[in-house]
Amino acid sequence: MRVTVLSGGVGGARFTRGLLALLRERLPDGAGGTTADVTVVANTGDDLWLHGVRVCPDLDTLMYTLGGAVHEGQGWGRRDESTHVAADLAAYGLGWEWFTLGDLDLATHLARTELLRRGLPLSAVTARLAERWQPGVTLLPMTDDEVETHVVTDDGTIHFEEWWVRHRAAVPARGFVQAGVERATPAPGVLDALGSADVVVVPPSNPVVSVGTILGVPGVRDALRATTAPVVAVSPVVGGAPVRGMADACLAAIGVATDAAAVARHHGRRADGGVLDAWLVDDADAPTVPLLRADGWTVDAAPTLMTDVPATAAIAARALALVDRLP
Ligand code: GDP
Ligand code: CA
Repeated sequence: MRVTVLSGGVGGARFTRGLLALLRERLPDGAGGTTADVTVVANTGDDLWLHGVRVCPDLDTLMYTLGGAVHEGQGWGRRDESTHVAADLAAYGLGWEWFTLGDLDLATHLARTELLRRGLPLSAVTARLAERWQPGVTLLPMTDDEVETHVVTDDGTIHFEEWWVRHRAAVPARGFVQAGVERATPAPGVLDALGSADVVVVPPSNPVVSVGTILGVPGVRDALRATTAPVVAVSPVVGGAPVRGMADACLAAIGVATDAAAVARHHGRRADGGVLDAWLVDDADAPTVPLLRADGWTVDAAPTLMTDVPATAAIAARALALVDRLP
C-alpha cells in the first residue's frame, strides 16, 4: 500500500504521525513499523535564508514531529531547546530578531546549509538529515528549487514568515506570490509518488500557503488530477475557524470564506476539474454534509481535533474509509 501525503508544517505533521500509528496497527511489518510505504511531499514555500543558513520550517516540523523530537506544546521546533545564539545575534542588531532560531534547531540549519553548499539538492539534503531522525516516511520537498511565498500588502511585498510571525497575519494581505515558481520543477520522486500512489491524502494543512503552494509547483496539480489513486482530504477549518494559527487571514486574502464547505469548493472535486475526491469535515460542520453531497461530493463528518496520536489515528481512519464510499 503506497500512501502519499501533501503536507504543510504543524497540521500536516500531526496528521501524518496519526496516519503512521494507524498503518502500524493495520499493516504491521512485525518490527514495530508498517509495510505501508508513506511519502510526504512538504511545502517549502515558507523557506528562507536567515543569518546565512537555509531554514525549512515545514520540513523541519515534519522531521521533528515524526522523529519524536518536536516541542509538543508548540507543535514546531525542538523540545528542550535554548536560544543562546539568537540572543547573542540580537545583540549585534542583525537578522530578523522576531524569528526564533533555537540552538538545536540551528544545528539542523547549519547541517542543511553545509550539505547544500557541497552541491546537494534539497531533496538529497532532506534524505540525509532524515537518516538521523528516522521519520518512518520518505520525506520530499515539493521542489529542489528556491520558491518562496511572498505576501502582497498595501506597504509592499514581504516574505511569508515576516507576515505570519512578525505581523501575526494582522496586516491585510492582498494576495500571495510564489517567487521563483515559474522556473521550478517538482523534486525527484514527487510526481512518481502521486502517480504510483494507492491513495493520496491531503491532511488538515493550510489550504492556501501549504497545500495551495505545493499545487502551484508546475506539474503537481496535473499529476494529482491524473493519478488513478483516490484523493481524500481532511478539512483544516472546524466550525468556521482554523483550529490553530491564522489560516482565516490567508483564505480571506484569496476571497474564500473560512468555512469547511467553502474550502472544499475552493479545492474542487476532480470530477469537476478540481483536485479532491472526498472530504472529511468535523462534526461541528455536519450541517454542510448534505449540502456537499447534493453537489456530488463524497463527504463525511467525524471528530477532527488532533488532540493526541490515537485521536489523530482515528481521524486518518475516517478519512481513508471515504475511499470505499467513492462512486
Ligand atoms: P503550518 O505550516 O505549521 O501552518 O501547518 P499546516 O499548514 O500543515 O497546518 C496548519 C493548519 O492545520 C491550520 O491552519 C489549521 O487550520 C489546521 N489544524 C491545526 N490543528 C488542527 C486540528 O486539530 N484539526 C483540524 N481539523 N485542523 C487543524
Ligand atoms: Ca508552514
